[in-house]
Amino acid sequence: MPKAEETILEVDLKALKHNLNHLKSRIPKETKFLAVVKAFAYGSDACEIANYLEELNVDYFAVAYTNEGVQLREAGITKPILVLHPQTVSFTTLVEHQLEPNLYSPKILKEFIEVASSLNYKNYPVHVKFNTGLNRLGFAEHQVSYLAETLNSTSVIHLKSIFSHLAASEDLNEREFTLNQINLFKHIAETLSEAIGFKPMMHICNTSGILNYPEAHFDMVRSGIGLYGYGNSEKENKNFKPIGALKTVISQIHNIEPGESVGYNRAFTSETPVRTATLPLGHADGIGRQYGNGKGYVVINGQKAHIVGNVCMDMIMVNITGIDCKEGDEAIVFDAVTTAEDFAETANTISYELLTSVSQRVKRVFLK
Ligand SMILES: *Cc1c(COP(=O)(O)O)cnc(C)c1O
Repeated sequence: MPKAEETILEVDLKALKHNLNHLKSRIPKETKFLAVVKAFAYGSDACEIANYLEELNVDYFAVAYTNEGVQLREAGITKPILVLHPQTVSFTTLVEHQLEPNLYSPKILKEFIEVASSLNYKNYPVHVKFNTGLNRLGFAEHQVSYLAETLNSTSVIHLKSIFSHLAASEDLNEREFTLNQINLFKHIAETLSEAIGFKPMMHICNTSGILNYPEAHFDMVRSGIGLYGYGNSEKENKNFKPIGALKTVISQIHNIEPGESVGYNRAFTSETPVRTATLPLGHADGIGRQYGNGKGYVVINGQKAHIVGNVCMDMIMVNITGIDCKEGDEAIVFDAVTTAEDFAETANTISYELLTSVSQRVKRVFLK
């Protein structure tokens, strides 16, 4: 693999395939697989990732917003795409691109029926989400009969699935809470199915749900972070391969004398002689200021070089005292060895946030 000559996010599609195969090995053969490719496929590039996953024959895709789904259609994706959090203003665009909305409240349901009806749609595929404890989006249990009446009185929409989302599937201390969510979901889905006279698909598991609650796989599972190589626990991480590697290069090396400072606001002042390397990525590339002042580190020649002083918009300076390196050498922010989870932890955040923060100006390089 050639060394980085600028800041790049390398995306390993072989690792993506490995992760998909592992996740599939953990679910029954007949259970459908939905790939969550929202937020630029967790920073990797949604169109490239979705195209490859479509080749690998996943059953469904999900994005958060309508415009993300439009991009997938424009890239040639033909599988069904669930839009998890559509807004009324985008309904016309949504149906024009055969995207399938999550209808999560009476207001959004009513407004979608009005739009679809005015465009003369029949049996337009939709999904409904129930709130079973996350308290974020979704109908409440007591709205089942209202929902059934509404669905029974229109032929404009057709209910393809009933779903919910787990609040703490990665946290085994919350097992009882999660099992309650699963039981409530089962009860709601069964009641609603009976009231409408057919059985839409049921799904509740995200990646950690797939791994920790095999009894809750139902008709389909939805995975994001697992596809990108993270199992949300030390034990499960061994089964996955992180697909992304954020790499950069040393632009310049400085020798800092005692009493000199480094970077904006003189946040770092040296008491001893220090050698620093300036790297071409900063908070505009996704390395937030919370990683500054000794928290985050990059790996240069196998050794940790901590960030010195404040993170700038386009650059960070790292401490390379005692590290054998020169201008032009590669620096690794995260890869399959020092993972995005490790880097995120240095600033008390999670892989999800770090991965989705890698900004669009960072070049994506795909390994096929
Ligand atoms: C983002 C999201 C997922 C994917 O979760 P992972 O933990 O990344 O697998 C699944 N379902 C819903 C509703 C989501 O918003």
